[in-house]
Amino acid sequence: MDHDRGQQGGSLLVRGGRHLDVVAGEWREGDIRILDGRIVDVGARLTPSPGVATFDATGRFVLPGLIDCHVHVTAVTADLTLLPELSPTYVSFGTARILDGMLRRGFTTVRDVGGADYGIHDAQREGLVAGPKVFFGGKALSQTGGHGDPRSRGRIADEDHPTRPGISRVADGVTAVRAAARDELRKGAHHVKIMASGGVASPTDRIDSTQYSVAEIEAVVEEAEAANRYVTAHAYTGRAITRAVRAGVRGIEHANLVDDEALDVVKEHGAVLTMNLVTYWALQEEGRDFGLSQENWTKVASVLDRAHDALGRAHAAGLNPAYGTDLLGGMHRHQAQELAIRARTIPVIDVIRGATTVASALLQREGRLGVIATGAAGDLVVTDADPVADISVLAESRLAAVIQDGHVVVDALVPSDQAASR
Ligand code: ZN
Ligand code: ZN
Repeated sequence: MDHDRGQQGGSLLVRGGRHLDVVAGEWREGDIRILDGRIVDVGARLTPSPGVATFDATGRFVLPGLIDCHVHVTAVTADLTLLPELSPTYVSFGTARILDGMLRRGFTTVRDVGGADYGIHDAQREGLVAGPKVFFGGKALSQTGGHGDPRSRGRIADEDHPTRPGISRVADGVTAVRAAARDELRKGAHHVKIMASGGVASPTDRIDSTQYSVAEIEAVVEEAEAANRYVTAHAYTGRAITRAVRAGVRGIEHANLVDDEALDVVKEHGAVLTMNLVTYWALQEEGRDFGLSQENWTKVASVLDRAHDALGRAHAAGLNPAYGTDLLGGMHRHQAQELAIRARTIPVIDVIRGATTVASALLQREGRLGVIATGAAGDLVVTDADPVADISVLAESRLAAVIQDGHVVVDALVPSDQAASR
């Protein structure tokens, strides 16, 4: 499977304008030629090919398409206890709307870390739905009573079936987690997600708990590596992060309560952090309107404060986190606000790198996504104002155009999802 582009890539000459060299952090003049979905030439005054459309970017700013590395595209409600009880077809329609909104905000690629399956991936790829390219891990693996166990205390049994909506599945013990990992890999997972600590939107666990034994984590890592894939773990505390990374986990999600010792371990092992501040801001503002329970709402405040601190310390340690949002239900519309929230703590160019080059490295698509260069996918975002000077043009989705695989998919369109996604 080639996940870097759809089956029918478009051809387009983007003329004039300045484009961002994300690696160097500099604007460059020049045209961009996209052939069959892929950038084949970047340079001054490229001649139009016969029959190939031209996009006039004169006076505009062109960036690589944005990548969000922590999404749940099936989370049509913020109530993850309710999600498994919804009809799979209902959830699919809701997912289509969520995907469309993401594309309109300039996200041409996303990594789903719980919920999306091969059906969503294939539907996007074949053009059945408009949306970002979806890297997926199927359902996240959780221990009983862990972050991915949606049951309240009073529920003792949980009916499961392959198409049941939900972001996670419960598996306990080395044999069972190994089988669950193999099952997600069998269905085409790009990575395997595990819940390695407590979380916010779960009914029975504590945020500071560690989850899964080291032996269980190592078994999942062994299975992922055998398939040339990697494991990413939901982990908040330094303790949870350290034991996951030492067990071979490559990706760490959230990391809000990370300490400097854990950052050293992350660095030493070449692991990648994906942070998401906007979800705590959004949960605090609106979570209860969208079904978040009162007790989970109270967990949010402490986590938000620490997230700001963790972002600054990770950046200072040379670990620029990948862009993530983790928004649920009607809060998805705040997806691009993470850009503005991060820019209060770290330089704008590093915020943009988090959503381009850092993200593509995490996805193991370096040079193929997240850059404007020969060989990369023809995924571009065009703005009228300079986003490095003022990130709000991206954070508020005031986009002149979004180009995906050489197709102009959004053209001077004010995001219409602001009201619609409720
Ligand atoms: Zn999580
Ligand atoms: Zn998540």
